[in-house]
Amino acid sequence: MTAVQKVLIVGGGIAGMSLAIRLGRSGIATDLIDRDPEWRAVGTGITITGPTFRAFGELGVEA
Ligand SMILES: Cc1cc2nc3c(=O)[nH]c(=O)nc-3n(C[C@H](O)[C@H](O)[C@H](O)COP(=O)(O)OP(=O)(O)OC[C@H]3O[C@@H](n4cnc5c(N)ncnc54)[C@H](O)[C@@H]3O)c2cc1C
Repeated sequence: MTAVQKVLIVGGGIAGMSLAIRLGRSGIATDLIDRDPEWRAVGTGITITGPTFRAFGELGVEA
C-alpha cells in the first residue's frame, strides 16, 4: 500500500480546519482550500456546547 503523501481538504470551516490540525499532528501534510476568497466564518458563535469544548480540548485549541 502506498503511504499518504498529502491530503487536499476542500472547505476551510471548523471541520476542515480541525482535520488539518489533526492530520498535521499525525505527520500528514495537508493543503486546505476554500471557495470563499474572504474565508468568512459561517456561524456567529452564540453557543458552544460540551462536545465542541471537548473536541477543541483534544485539538489543543482554546475556546
Ligand atoms: C447564522 C448561523 C449561526 C450559527 N451559530 C452557531 C452557534 O452559535 N454555535 C454553533 O455551534 N454553531 C452555530 N452554527 C452552525 C455552525 O456554523 C456549523 O455547524 C459549522 O460552521 C459547520 O462547520 P463545517 O466546517 O462543517 O462547515 P462550514 O462552516 O459551512 O464550512 C464549510 C466551508 O467549505 C467551503 N466550501 C463549500 N463548498 C466548497 C467547495 N466546493 N470548494 C471549496 N470550498 C467549499 C465554504 O466556503 C466554507 O468555508 C451557526 C450557523 C449559522 C448559519
